[in-house]
Amino acid sequence: MTHNLLIIKGDGIGPEVVDAAVVVLENLGLDLHFDEAPAGYACYQQYGDPIPQTTLDAARRAEATLFGAVTTPPDIRNYRSAVVTLRKELDLYANLRPVRSLGLKGRHLRDGLDLYVVRENTEGMYSGLEEDYGDKATSLRVITKKGSERIVRYAFELAKKTGKHKVTIVHKANILRLSDGLFRRTALAVAEEYRQYGIEAQELLVDTMAMRLIKDPENFEVIVTTNLFGDILSDEAAELVGGLGVAASGNIGLEGAIFEPVHGSAPDITGKGVANPLATFLATVMLLQQINEVEASDRLQQAVTKIINEGNLTPDLGGTATTLEVRDQVIRFLQ
Ligand code: ATP
Repeated sequence: MTHNLLIIKGDGIGPEVVDAAVVVLENLGLDLHFDEAPAGYACYQQYGDPIPQTTLDAARRAEATLFGAVTTPPDIRNYRSAVVTLRKELDLYANLRPVRSLGLKGRHLRDGLDLYVVRENTEGMYSGLEEDYGDKATSLRVITKKGSERIVRYAFELAKKTGKHKVTIVHKANILRLSDGLFRRTALAVAEEYRQYGIEAQELLVDTMAMRLIKDPENFEVIVTTNLFGDILSDEAAELVGGLGVAASGNIGLEGAIFEPVHGSAPDITGKGVANPLATFLATVMLLQQINEVEASDRLQQAVTKIINEGNLTPDLGGTATTLEVRDQVIRFLQ
């Protein structure tokens, strides 16, 4: 069966890392068909819209989308972020961040980690409901039963699919008694259903979770939480295995699935040929899982681990290789 994939390259180093990933995908021996659509600041300059309706429609039609990076200019009023718009329009409610040790060495890096942070992606503190009262401003933190239930169910289904045995539900229900009270109650009810599959539920307050991620991260398998807490915890967790250069994420919902490196468009190194493509390759690993090409996904994951341990990396990871040299080493390791 042909997999129809959408490519959104974006701005800055986005096209450089996505082009490298497409060549890697083409070397996996799969039946893939690529479409391409524009988004980002260059798209805004050309078409007057950073995320045209045609791009949203193409992302909805595709089985999965690989997204590079976009520049968000700070000084244009009412500019809509391409990524936020995609999440909203396609209702991509699950933000998935794998945290896997790859063999990188460093002061705060940890070996042996293999966990996921699952973050609710559409409500909570980022509901976009803010009021300005002059010398006072408010942000409304919206938690719904539906939003809580589907994200927690996603986390338990992920645990089931990936052979994990524990899901940690993270909240602050002792203080946010109503909103996180609802999240907690809903989460614990979902957890009950998964007991029969041998998946244990644990709950932790977000501040305790932040400490435990540093103290004993190996004790976690799947962490599920609300939007802002997940945003912070997933970046904290990413630093344990190598940070921006190797952090990938998925935005997944019923109307689409978009995979991207966590880093931005890196204008300071654009065009120099030294952008590290590994985070985009790891986003590609996630994309392949999503389209059920599990064997190819595992092969690419192993090739990335191998280049980190044996190959020459780009300067941000202490090597001297170019983007294309990293790409070609990964392709060799795939053989
Ligand atoms: P944006 O405005 O798009 O968020 P930014 O430069 O503010 O861009 P990032 O793109 O995340 O934010 O980059 C932060 C730093 O990390 C920059 O110095 C950038 O060069 C570096 N960096 C980010 N991604 C990569 C990459 N893939 N390879 C090498 N360096 C990178």
